[in-house]
Amino acid sequence: MPVLRTVKDYIRTIVDFPHEGILFRDVTTLFADPRGFRMAIDQMLHPYAGERIDKVVGLEARGFILGGAIAHQLALGFVPIRKKGKLPGAVISEEYQLEYGEAVVEIHDDAIQPGEKVLVVDDLLATGGTAEAGIKLIERLGGEIVGCAFIVDLPELGGRQKLEAMGMDVHVLCE
Ligand code: AMP
Repeated sequence: MPVLRTVKDYIRTIVDFPHEGILFRDVTTLFADPRGFRMAIDQMLHPYAGERIDKVVGLEARGFILGGAIAHQLALGFVPIRKKGKLPGAVISEEYQLEYGEAVVEIHDDAIQPGEKVLVVDDLLATGGTAEAGIKLIERLGGEIVGCAFIVDLPELGGRQKLEAMGMDVHVLCE
C-alpha cells in the first residue's frame, strides 16, 4: 500500500452518484483515516491561527463532522446549520437554488450573538449556494464571518468567486 501524503490522496471519487454525470468526492475515506482526518482538521485551521474566533458553524451534514472536531480543537462551541424542519427551537431560514428546484437551510435564532466571530466549515464548495445561504443566516443574526473553510473546491462551478464577491475569506485544501 503506497504512503498517502496529502489530504487529496484520502478522498475517494464515486462516479454517477447521486445521479449520472456527477463525480461525487467522497470524504468518508478521509474521515475514516486517523492521519488523514487530523491532517484535514489541522490544515483547515492553519490560516486562522491567532485570529479571534468565537463560534464554529458547520453546514449539514459533513460540515458537522469537521465543525465538531474543529470546535473541540479550539475549545469553542459548535452551531449547526440544518436543512428545513430539523432544528427543534425557533429558527430563521434562507432559501437557495439547487440544480433542480430550491432548498431551505435554518439556524436557531439564538445560536449566534451580535458581534460574534464565526468560522464556517463544510466538506466541499461546488456552486456555493449552500454556503451563501448559511452566510446570510449568520449575518442576519449579527455574526461576523472570519472565514469559510472547505476540504474541496470544484473551481469550474464558481463557488469560490461567489463567496469572495460577498467579501468572504475562502480557504480550501484542494481542488
Ligand atoms: P453547493 O451548494 O453547490 O456549493 O454544494 C455544496 C454541498 O453539496 C456540500 O455540502 C457538498 O457536500 C455537496 N456536494 C455538491 N457537489 C458535490 C460533489 N461533486 N461531491 C460531493 N459533495 C458534493
